[in-house]
Amino acid sequence: MSLTIRNDLSALERLQSVQKGISEAAREVARDPTDIQLIAVSKTNGPENIQPLITAGHRCFGENRVQEALGKWPQLKSDCADIELHLIGPLQSNKVKDAVGLFDVIHTIDRPKIARAIATEIDRSGRRPELFIQVNTGQEEQKAGVAVDELTDLLNLCRQQLSLPINGLMCIPPISEEPAVHFAFLRKLAGEHGLTGLSMGMSADFKTAIQFGATHIRVGTALFGARNQA
Ligand SMILES: *Cc1c(COP(=O)(O)O)cnc(C)c1O
Repeated sequence: MSLTIRNDLSALERLQSVQKGISEAAREVARDPTDIQLIAVSKTNGPENIQPLITAGHRCFGENRVQEALGKWPQLKSDCADIELHLIGPLQSNKVKDAVGLFDVIHTIDRPKIARAIATEIDRSGRRPELFIQVNTGQEEQKAGVAVDELTDLLNLCRQQLSLPINGLMCIPPISEEPAVHFAFLRKLAGEHGLTGLSMGMSADFKTAIQFGATHIRVGTALFGARNQA
């Protein structure tokens, strides 16, 4: 058996194992597993690691850096028309044009300046990515995400002034805290604002996130193996 085929099998096996985990977690809380979108987080992985998952039938991927994504996804997308690409990392104003051009879903709106820049670029380009607001549920100083007490203002700006449809909320719980607490809190915030999308859960905690209503889980390591530190 050639090395290439072994790699393919291992990507497929990882995918199947994560899909099994999704089904089990969904069944425990009487949810339909097909309501949960698996975003394969391919950051730091080159096309040679991504292609086996595409070959295995997976179409939904996530990246955290616009610049890195620009280096691999235009080609991968042109080779496979129905790829859906999600931006899950912080967005700077000077990258908004590229981000709206490349990504189908942006999870990380977290301040008025970015919301305005996205609205302007959507009007200009005619491309309409789905949008999530990232919430800093752990009130961590260094972490991206809108502060909890500024969420209502940001949502009002998006909806009323900018006509930006917001699909849901996203969070990354603090590493040292029980993720379930943050997932429950994000679900509560979304409910209060009439939002149905919940982007939460990673390799270590996606089953918990599903039990708390996640509609989008972002899984890297469990699909691609450990990333290099740098
Ligand atoms: C890297 C990353 C993930 C995936 O993390 P894993 O633990 O490898 O599954 C999920 N969400 C965000 C925002 C990330 O940057």
